[in-house]
Amino acid sequence: MATLWLLGHQCSLRQPWFEELDKENDEVLLIENWNEKDWKGYHKQKLVLVFSIMRHFKKELEDAGYTVDYRKSTDVAEELEAHINEKQPDTVLVHQPSEEGMCRFIDTWRKKTTASVRIAEEGGFLMDRKEWKNLLPENENWQMDKLYRRFRKDFRVLLTKNGKPVGGKWSYDADNRKKPKKGTTFPEPAWESPDNITRSVIEEVEDGFSKLYGSTEHFAYPVTKKGAEKLLDHFMEHRLHTFGDYQDAMLPGEPFVSHSMLSAAINFSLLDPLDVIRRAEEAYQDEAAPLNAVEGFIRQILGWREYIRGVYLRSMPEYERVNELGHERDLPAFFWTAETNMHCMQDTVQSVVDHAYSHHIQRLMVLGNFATTAGIEPKQVSDWFNEMYIDALDWVVLPNVLGMALYADGGKMSTKPYVSSGNYIQKMSHYCRDCAYSVNEKYGENACPFHPLYWDFLERHEERFRDNPRMKVIYKHLDNRSSEDEKKQQETIDLVWKRMKEGTL
Ligand code: FAD
Ligand code: SF4
Repeated sequence: MATLWLLGHQCSLRQPWFEELDKENDEVLLIENWNEKDWKGYHKQKLVLVFSIMRHFKKELEDAGYTVDYRKSTDVAEELEAHINEKQPDTVLVHQPSEEGMCRFIDTWRKKTTASVRIAEEGGFLMDRKEWKNLLPENENWQMDKLYRRFRKDFRVLLTKNGKPVGGKWSYDADNRKKPKKGTTFPEPAWESPDNITRSVIEEVEDGFSKLYGSTEHFAYPVTKKGAEKLLDHFMEHRLHTFGDYQDAMLPGEPFVSHSMLSAAINFSLLDPLDVIRRAEEAYQDEAAPLNAVEGFIRQILGWREYIRGVYLRSMPEYERVNELGHERDLPAFFWTAETNMHCMQDTVQSVVDHAYSHHIQRLMVLGNFATTAGIEPKQVSDWFNEMYIDALDWVVLPNVLGMALYADGGKMSTKPYVSSGNYIQKMSHYCRDCAYSVNEKYGENACPFHPLYWDFLERHEERFRDNPRMKVIYKHLDNRSSEDEKKQQETIDLVWKRMKEGTL
């Protein structure tokens, strides 16, 4: 008899070991981890998602004729051994996860256990782990675009019969920067109302982990393959067509805009990424969505998602400690409470508190921009993202946060840091007109804090960035300031640090 031990994000019949599993004799083992220490600092919705997916998958497996040993435990390693002692399996089958920490856990357990262990790579990605060594060679620049074009060809996605990109261009990114008129609304994603299983998980989490962050009130993420397919179908039919145009737009009180909300469903194995890509391609062929939307959406999954995992696999374990810019400040309390006068930060963090989610450009150009320019310690920022986001797993958080958002790896993934003054946020959002600060004021009490933070960042890291070809113009502006402006700039940044310290920013 064999036991297949599945982790919480691997609950899918498409995981490779299912091909060898014998329903009559073998068992599936699922263990809910109720160890408070492991969940410290997490958003409650994350626990609800994981436990509810696991409990629904147990039911799906039993309905399909599998035997499931389902356990709740405060010590996963002990529970695993308890299962082995009770059931005496000949072999324990495991899928190797992408996360370094989980791999270490499996390695340690494997050395101690009496059971024979076989490991296969987990599903859920287009590229195998072993391929990344060639795809991201040691001494080359790691560019997403190059790989994306290659994957388009390899998987024949949005290609003409002659192997050229449909529409003549590989990327329509430049078309995807529109700002909707104020008052524009977008259809809500096809959320799921929590069923009995999810409701009881919510009660248990509220009971057992009452001190964790966030609220379970709005929990509506799919927890089954069927629910995820409903969310996907609805997105394809009603929301994809505006995905391209408004991909970078930010609207107060509109946390989802035209984003798919599929990241958790994909990362937790409810949906297969290639199926999602094919569905978007069909939407283009059926004329349900324009090319800029479809190509933009496909690039996120076929390009960015795969590339990000590749960067993680090629850079760990050193990556988790990177801090090239030497940033040491603490993350301000408003990252958990949303209590700040900066409207863009307030609305973005509120979305995290309510939905364990904010969309990409909020993560990058509001939260990441703030954390980089304010010099927050990278580890604190990546821990916060790992703990607070519904779709977070270490492999996707670290390159996105440390590499893309914070430039903490010294530019492995981007030629310049994603930092800006308040002007970018004003251009892409409707936040500034309802903010306590003024985006039109550079200095003084009312100045938008992103202005002094940005200038201060440039000055602090002048040696590193002055000769960067993409930043030369910005340094020219800095050089042209009068000494009077420099003095006002210094007073304004001091005010920002003071307010951050007092908790009044
Ligand atoms: P959409 O905007 O609809 O995009 C479609 C899909 O593309 C997503 O569902 C996702 O599967 C994929 N995708 C898009 N961009 C990326 C990317 N950069 N990396 C990986 N996949 C991508 N994504 C996560 O899945 N988990 C995270 O914890 C996470 N943390 C992030 C932290 C920061 C600082 C930044 C800048 C990005 C992060 N991302 C993360 C990437 C991206 O922001 C999210 O995938 C996206 O916002 C999820 O929302 P959505 O499903 O509505 O995506
Ligand atoms: Fe954000 Fe500055 Fe605009 Fe306020 S004025 S919303 S702080 S960018």
